Amino acid sequence: AVKAGGRDGWQFFSDSLEEQARQRLEINNGLRKALERDELSVRYQPIVAAETGRIIGAELLLRWHPPGGEISPATFIPIAELTGVIVPIGKWVFREACRAEVAWRSRWGEQAPYVSLNLSARQLSDDGIVDDFADMLRQTGANPARLLLEITETSLMADVEANLKVLRHLADFGLRVAVDDFGTGYSSLAQLTRLPVDVLKIDRAFVDGLEKSDDSRTIIRAVISLGRALGLKLVAEGVENPEQQRELCAYGCDMLQGYYFNRPLVEAEFANCLTNQFSDAMPACAEPLYFV
Ligand code: C2E
Ligand code: MG
Ligand code: MG
Ligand code: MG
Repeated sequence: AVKAGGRDGWQFFSDSLEEQARQRLEINNGLRKALERDELSVRYQPIVAAETGRIIGAELLLRWHPPGGEISPATFIPIAELTGVIVPIGKWVFREACRAEVAWRSRWGEQAPYVSLNLSARQLSDDGIVDDFADMLRQTGANPARLLLEITETSLMADVEANLKVLRHLADFGLRVAVDDFGTGYSSLAQLTRLPVDVLKIDRAFVDGLEKSDDSRTIIRAVISLGRALGLKLVAEGVENPEQQRELCAYGCDMLQGYYFNRPLVEAEFANCLTNQFSDAMPACAEPLYFV
């Protein structure tokens, strides 16, 4: 069974197929109730401009804390995708992102960070997504140009034709699109140019060990020059030390995200970071406008 305890609060004790199926069922049932029971929350991980280190965006990351522990999204998201419960949860996430965009813009104006959020392929294949997102944008007054939808390369390329149709609708509203975990899937470059993509997020597997591995360095430089040639912005994820920051910046990566700058933060902590940034005795900031 799924049981509280262990490093992440939860642990799996058996891997027989039957047991796995039971765990999936348990997680799925729990997730269905998580929304009404108020067990979901979000964290915001800062995304900084590579050259200045200033916060210009944040990735919204989902957290689930059922009674007795916390389950990692790496565990529950794949199950939620499989069973489809990611659809109502994803709507809730989008509403949170809209709410944050409006709140931050009313607080910090044009210097407010953009909001990046994750979208799974299962959501794109839901017939209601276009209308639902349009409704939420209208209801909240969020600026779509400050919302970046992250879709993993693997799920994006799994069904390009179907995804293309939906993404074009979403992009027509002004929403921005990022390819997440880029470099781990198999992108057809021809397909990439057909998709309404604005940003590539370089998978942290390539950033990890960058300073020690010529192979990682080669891949990173190739991805950055590919992105530039296609007119895309680049974000490197998983930046954990100043050497990585320095190299990525030297290779022309636009934005960086990782524990070296910040862990995913609760909203109040995130707001403090920004308040500090804006009250620093720095010259009024001339950050490039990334998505607006
Ligand atoms: P992701 O979208 O690639 O998000 C980045 C993950 O890397 C996050 O893990 C983040 O906490 C972690 N990370 C950030 N900086 C560092 C670093 O410097 N070092 C290391 N080792 N890790 C770092 P997290 O929050 O556990 O999320 C895992 C995955 O779950 C996400 O990967 C994303 O695919 C999925 N996910 C999270 N929230 C949502 C959501 O709202 N909807 C959907 N569909 N998926 C989500
Ligand atoms: Mg992501
Ligand atoms: Mg990623
Ligand atoms: Mg990832």
